[in-house]
Amino acid sequence: MAEESYDEECDYLFKAVLIGDSAVGKSNLLSRFSRDEFRLDSKPTIGVDFAYRNVRVADKTIKAQIWDTAGQERFRAITSSYYRGALGALLIYDITRRTTFENIKKWLSELRDFSSPDTVIVLVGNKSDLRQSREVEEEEGKTFAESEGLYFLETSALENQNVEEAFLSMIGRIHEVLTQKIV
Ligand code: GDP
Ligand code: MG
Repeated sequence: MAEESYDEECDYLFKAVLIGDSAVGKSNLLSRFSRDEFRLDSKPTIGVDFAYRNVRVADKTIKAQIWDTAGQERFRAITSSYYRGALGALLIYDITRRTTFENIKKWLSELRDFSSPDTVIVLVGNKSDLRQSREVEEEEGKTFAESEGLYFLETSALENQNVEEAFLSMIGRIHEVLTQKIV
């Protein structure tokens, strides 16, 4: 394929973003996916963070650049530059805090305002390990995702459940969108 690669190791490079309320587990999902690490403390940093991971899809190497907020979501102050150019998004809530699920509607509408109609969106209900404190049923997440045309998964960054699946389903779908466009 005559695509110019951004570095010699990958065929495609693209940006994806993590969105959702404060403390839903965005940073831990990302560190689990990119470095296989989990932190018990929440450690917001200043500015925007991102991590890379190379993924093989079909015979191509894809470098996913995944952006994480750095606490600015607490003030609902994510700027348009955060979303700009993102081909994928994980929209994350915490299954033990109902408000984080209710706020998904707001994040989704913000995401749709700032990103392209092709952006692949996966709804993620995180902290599935905290069964006793569940406030949002899996079925509710699923129903909402279906009504909005999103992919859906429950994850646990703590127990490393479905984390790979969440990121890889987004990346795989982005790859499909990209290859359809190039052909
Ligand atoms: P962020 O603000 O969305 O980036 O959330 P963090 O990744 O900083 O996580 C917030 C808090 O939730 C931290 O205390 C994490 O240890 C905890 N946490 C994150 N993911 C999980 C999970 O899957 N299960 C449990 N039990 N705790 C989690
Ligand atoms: Mg964070």
